[in-house]
Amino acid sequence: MGDILFGRCGREGNTVLVIKNARFVDESIKDILIEDNRIHAVVEQYQGDGEIIDLEGKSYISSGWIDLHTHAFPKYAPYCSHPDLIGYSTGVTTVVDAGSTGANDIAEFYELSRNCKTRVFAFCNVSKIGLKRIDELADLTNLELEPIRKLYEKHPDFIVGLKARMSASVIGENGITPLKIAKSFTKQLKLPLMVHIGSEPPKIEEILAELESGDILTHCFNGKDNNIFRDQDFPLSELIRAIERGIILDIGHGTASFSFHIAKKAITAGVLFDTISTDIYMRNKENGPVYDMATTLTKFLALGYRLDKVIHAVTEKPAQILKQPLLGRIRPGNYADLTIFQLQEKPIKLVDSHGVTMEATQRVVPTAVVLGGKHIELTNNRPS
Ligand SMILES: [Zn+2]
Repeated sequence: MGDILFGRCGREGNTVLVIKNARFVDESIKDILIEDNRIHAVVEQYQGDGEIIDLEGKSYISSGWIDLHTHAFPKYAPYCSHPDLIGYSTGVTTVVDAGSTGANDIAEFYELSRNCKTRVFAFCNVSKIGLKRIDELADLTNLELEPIRKLYEKHPDFIVGLKARMSASVIGENGITPLKIAKSFTKQLKLPLMVHIGSEPPKIEEILAELESGDILTHCFNGKDNNIFRDQDFPLSELIRAIERGIILDIGHGTASFSFHIAKKAITAGVLFDTISTDIYMRNKENGPVYDMATTLTKFLALGYRLDKVIHAVTEKPAQILKQPLLGRIRPGNYADLTIFQLQEKPIKLVDSHGVTMEATQRVVPTAVVLGGKHIELTNNRPS
């Protein structure tokens, strides 16, 4: 504490980017020195030169937001977008695609992602056709381990897990079988499985019974009949046991998968989520109810969660799940992926996936990101 750094921190000729008077989510105010796309130091006060961005203690800073469930592959409607449209331009410096591509297309997605400003990772759909069709698990011949294994060996820094969408419209007549096959794949590849839940079949109880430590249940607060409470006020015993085994609860808001009612029940019952993600794609970005990550974070503040908890769920926690120790935290040596945002006192009507509304007086507004060693101002904030 109390450290003051004088002079130049960079080597001769290196431009140093300095974010001065940045407000952290614990309300401390510090200066962040960035060099070569890495955080060089975090100090009380830097008195030296460099390219200075002074936030005057007014704007918050956090490690760059990570959205663990998005649809960032542009090719297959309706679940499609582009990493930079739903990424850095909205304050999200890392997007994780949740199974838009399977073995047939993930190499193409990898190539596309290399030309993006936004950092991109992917859960590979267990069905090789990905979301080319939206009943991708109806034909079990589309589930093949070997093509996935080869692609994972080629792109181990891009493929972070597998994805299986386990709901009625996706699985055809196959019941729980696609999930059992998906689990056998992830066991052999030693990767986590992200599972989407929705309308039954299969029953939520059957799905939860298959999940192991590190597997991710997305759409965890969905309000369909097959939800984690069913129609009770307490969570299913299968959920409690799965949480004890170490599964991850991910929000995955989406068009149809986030309910204020279930989120409030979860607060009362003490069911804690791990990560906040949007399940964003073109349509729910343009028409809502998702719009963007900032709106999703605003909903959690409106539900009564503390700012530091909410930001933890889009920074440190997803970085840990992705096994990316250089992301998610503002500390020397880490990538200088940063999101600068404000809490603006401006009324907003928030809408969940069932058309239920909540009034809030405060909203999260991202104003800039730091990515690739550059400070990028954001201009396309969602209009009120
Ligand atoms: Zn999704």
